[in-house]
Amino acid sequence: MARNTLRIGHGYDLHRLEAPPPAGRGRPFVLAGVHFDHPVGPVGHSDGDAVFHAVYDALTGALALPDIGQAFADTDPQWNGQDSAYFLQEARRLLASRGASVVNLDITVICEKPKLSPVKEQMIARVAELLGLEPSQVNLKGKTHEKVDAVGEGRAVEVHVVALVELSA
Ligand code: MG
Repeated sequence: MARNTLRIGHGYDLHRLEAPPPAGRGRPFVLAGVHFDHPVGPVGHSDGDAVFHAVYDALTGALALPDIGQAFADTDPQWNGQDSAYFLQEARRLLASRGASVVNLDITVICEKPKLSPVKEQMIARVAELLGLEPSQVNLKGKTHEKVDAVGEGRAVEVHVVALVELSA
């Protein structure tokens, strides 16, 4: 009897946080498509959404497909300032083309500020919407880095994602 196959993927991303130009190179602070009013923001070729980038890498990692840096080179002017929601739409297309579906995602965001708890449900809803999932399939945890190292000093944001994907036989 044919059995479905489960695949696990891990995604990681980190973006440096800087003041906006001219003082720095920070873009507006965005995580999982939710914008925060914050004095620093991610430095990145695209919009710097570390949650979407790590989710992409977890999903493509589960399928042993090229990672986000390989698929969307940060030297390609086409992706300059790109809304990273596009990358999740691409991940969804890749999954569908391989008959794969997401079982669940577990996302951990590590940043000292801003506080994620007021918009956590909104972040989950956006990830779920872009991937065609129920919010109950997406978990998101916010943690601090206890004021130590770059993340704890507010100079970077870090995201880890674990994805479980099912391939239909
Ligand atoms: Mg990134």
